Amino acid sequence: MQLKTILNRVQKFKSFVYGDIVWLDSGQENLAILVQILARANSKAICSGCGSPGCCYDTLAPRMFEFVPLWNIAVYFAYAMRRVDCRSCGVRVEIVPWADGKNTLTRTYMQFLAAWARKLSWKETATAFCTTWEKVFHSVEWAVQWGLAHRDLSNVQSIGVDEVLWQRGHKYLTVVYQIDTECKRLLWVGKDRTIKTLMRFFRMFGKERSAQLLFVCSDMWKPYLLVIAKKASQAIHVLDRFHIAMHMNKAIDEVRAKEARALKAKGMFPILTHSRWCLLKRPENLTPNQEIKLSDLLRYNLKAVRSYLLKEDFQFFWTYVRPYYAGVFLDRWCKRTMLSKIEPMKKVARMLRSHRELLLNWFRAKGTISSGVMEGLNNKLKLTTRKSYGFRTFRAAEVALYHTLGALPEPEWTHRFC
Ligand SMILES: [Zn+2]
Repeated sequence: MQLKTILNRVQKFKSFVYGDIVWLDSGQENLAILVQILARANSKAICSGCGSPGCCYDTLAPRMFEFVPLWNIAVYFAYAMRRVDCRSCGVRVEIVPWADGKNTLTRTYMQFLAAWARKLSWKETATAFCTTWEKVFHSVEWAVQWGLAHRDLSNVQSIGVDEVLWQRGHKYLTVVYQIDTECKRLLWVGKDRTIKTLMRFFRMFGKERSAQLLFVCSDMWKPYLLVIAKKASQAIHVLDRFHIAMHMNKAIDEVRAKEARALKAKGMFPILTHSRWCLLKRPENLTPNQEIKLSDLLRYNLKAVRSYLLKEDFQFFWTYVRPYYAGVFLDRWCKRTMLSKIEPMKKVARMLRSHRELLLNWFRAKGTISSGVMEGLNNKLKLTTRKSYGFRTFRAAEVALYHTLGALPEPEWTHRFC
């Protein structure tokens, strides 16, 4: 069987035929195969300006396009592009079905690299297929662009808005997820976490689709609250359970650290040493040793312990069914916490009080938004940004996130190369 037979089977182009196939380099180190492509006799070239066929004006020097390697041998297509004498656009270079514009990588090869870049890091992908990091990045970027242009944004009913720390220091990204039961994916990434940032999402998403949103989930970050109230006022705005737990844990951590230092300064027994995770974890997730430590701790009248009990007590809030009773519970909890004289916890209570209505929306949306969705997507996102600490630019991080979390569609070919 000849190589041409295989190519015609796996990657056939209308109006083009495969010509001679030769070795490109005789050096044992960088073997490469050159596949010549010819336009079918009498076929018309397609104008890249308007997409209509036109007469051939002239032919340019042959160009090379990198294709999927075969047995670790590089494969190139060589084709002399024609220029079209187009009635509406003038003289334009033709469109070819295997590559876009000035790209030197074929679409198939880019899709191939992008698919591997989902399983391996970009660097590993480059090493595995004897190519460069830039080419892998370029391929993923192309796949993402294609996917974004072809994705279906109709029927998005629930979205979640969140901020994530990016790089070192206080640099943030704003991410918007679709959190419907049947479809969970990343819809959008933007730099910073300002009003402007989230406004950009709604501009991309469009007025009509925003007006169809039923639920919006977010944390208590003020710019988000403002934009959501303005752009999706009809949707039920729910404060995310996972973020409230985060705020509480932060408060407990602060109380514990301060108290531990105070005990040490007074020369007392360092009961709070190694207690951090006992107080932050849910009791059902504790290890046997942490359980012993916790029951030991609970005998002391410490601020950290009292904060812990307040947090654990708050879990009860989520078990309510009716918003009214949940509200009564919330008010009581806040009152008790305000009397506790523990400043970080009081801060949490004040915050919850001022967002009372949005918190109670949780019960109005019950059954539609599951608490774990945002947390799960966030964990995946962190894994991607951690894996990709090599991304120094926002563009690279953005592309990587869409690629791994966007659930983007892919172009379909008759043959799958990986
Ligand atoms: Zn044209």
